[in-house]
Amino acid sequence: MAVHAHPDDESSKGGATTARYADEGHDVLVVTLTGGERGSILNPAMDTPGVLERMDEIRREEMAAASAALGVRQTWLGFVDSGLPEGDPLPPIPDGSFALVPLEEATEALVRVVREFKPHVMTTYDEMGGYPHPDHIRCHEVSVAAYEAAGDPEKFPDAGEPWTPLKLYYDHGFSIRRMEVFAEEYEKLGEPFPLQEWLDRSRKYAVERGDIMARVTTQVECGKYFPRRDDALRAHATQVDPNGAFFAIPLEMQQRLWPTEEFELARTRVSTDIPETDLFAGITDENR
Ligand SMILES: [Zn+2]
Repeated sequence: MAVHAHPDDESSKGGATTARYADEGHDVLVVTLTGGERGSILNPAMDTPGVLERMDEIRREEMAAASAALGVRQTWLGFVDSGLPEGDPLPPIPDGSFALVPLEEATEALVRVVREFKPHVMTTYDEMGGYPHPDHIRCHEVSVAAYEAAGDPEKFPDAGEPWTPLKLYYDHGFSIRRMEVFAEEYEKLGEPFPLQEWLDRSRKYAVERGDIMARVTTQVECGKYFPRRDDALRAHATQVDPNGAFFAIPLEMQQRLWPTEEFELARTRVSTDIPETDLFAGITDENR
């Protein structure tokens, strides 16, 4: 079960991994906490009359196409996108938004889906949200709380029969080391690196925080599924610019030099050896 804040996050964060596991016969469910109502139109080609008015419907169509590209099932939790507050000082989060819903209420909603779907493995974001969007930070809090509560019969007794998931991971998509590997390749080829600005900005940020690779416990081989991940992303046509940074590095280069997606094992109820190459490592017929 991959828990995400907005439609499109399931494709940009761990998308190829879900495609691989679905392809290998696992039942994979993406849970999208909000409808992405406040996402702006980030693809100039889609900024046409009528699109904003139909945004809710369009987001649903895009999500269905993305799930089909990944080969996964998907469900909505029905909360409302908080939007990314911008400006100085930051504006307040709009009333009724997901980030303002009491933690207990949002957790119960996710616990209900966990008890119904019965996942062995859950993925979500780290405590910083992967990037500091209020819905992403809330997604982290709700996922951790649901992972802890779902197996406890005392918690949320009206939300179904208890089910205990075995492992919880954080997705780690923004690795500086990964970008450096590509930058070095461009240097060898004598060509300018298209994401140099991004890399410079990230290095400044990393002075305080360090590269996320220090926290990665698990690298899942999934290069074969990068084309499907990209198809899923492009399915979110209003939010994803097909000429944007995500597609700047040729697929062939990504598959050759960095054919994995990265995760951090945050909680486990089974024993496993770190580093891992499989989110299901340590889960056996006996303990599942
Ligand atoms: Zn998001």
